[in-house]
Amino acid sequence: MSHLQLDHLHLRYGNAPAVEDLNLEVQDGELVSLLGPSGCGKTTTMRAVAGLLAPAGGTITLGGQDITRLPANRRDIGLVFQSYALFPHLSTFENVAFGLRLRKVQDAELRRRVGDALEVVGLSEFAARLPANLSGGQQQRVALARAIVIEPRLLLLDEPLSNLDAKLRLDMRGELRRIQRELGVTMLYVTHDQDEALALSDRIVIMRAGRIEQQGTPEQVYARP
Ligand code: ADP
Ligand code: ADP
Repeated sequence: MSHLQLDHLHLRYGNAPAVEDLNLEVQDGELVSLLGPSGCGKTTTMRAVAGLLAPAGGTITLGGQDITRLPANRRDIGLVFQSYALFPHLSTFENVAFGLRLRKVQDAELRRRVGDALEVVGLSEFAARLPANLSGGQQQRVALARAIVIEPRLLLLDEPLSNLDAKLRLDMRGELRRIQRELGVTMLYVTHDQDEALALSDRIVIMRAGRIEQQGTPEQVYARP
């Protein structure tokens, strides 16, 4: 149960409104993309859902629980951002294990879960490598493994492919879709790339100037009159 609902969400930086009266639902297991030009409020929305920015108004509900005021570390939400910020001195395995160690997960279970997460992202062979010895795409996969290993109720991905070259970006689109389907995880995905949103999403929400301008399936959003 990880249905996400944003009701009349208002977000501000100081007195400056960034997001106004946002209403948005993501069904259990659905992948919804937030699409729109730079500055329209996509990242701000993600930060509020993650618990990194307190709303000025409105509510955030996840799996029927009101999480509007729940601290970020108690939301069971996995995050993958554009700058994947791996720990440079830790191996792939230890980067992925990090959140489980914080949660004091026992060793046998920790090994099993890190092993499973690395398998899902296709990095089983690279467990011992340091980030510096991985390609950009592989590093982004480590970041993804780190997010899914905690078995999140929701995955937030903010422009996760924008640091990759064009070829890898295309490959990773397919990978992300496969992983999302395989895990059945609810996903909110930020991009400013229309093609990416079209290829990945069950539903696309187009934002402009802090508000939702249009939403629907890729077919609905891109249907030509
Ligand atoms: P997007 O992710 O769609 O590019 P953002 O959510 O980053 O947009 O930004 C939405 C609005 O909030 C913009 O007007 C931006 O300038 C402003 N904003 C974003 N982050 C901050 C911040 N830390 N302090 C002040 N204003 C911010
Ligand atoms: P995005 O990829 O979301 O467009 P940016 O590159 O615009 O991100 O912003 C990078 C960082 O700067 C973010 O942490 C964002 O919150 C912050 N930021 C964006 N706009 C402003 C602003 N007007 N004032 C202060 N900080 C901002």
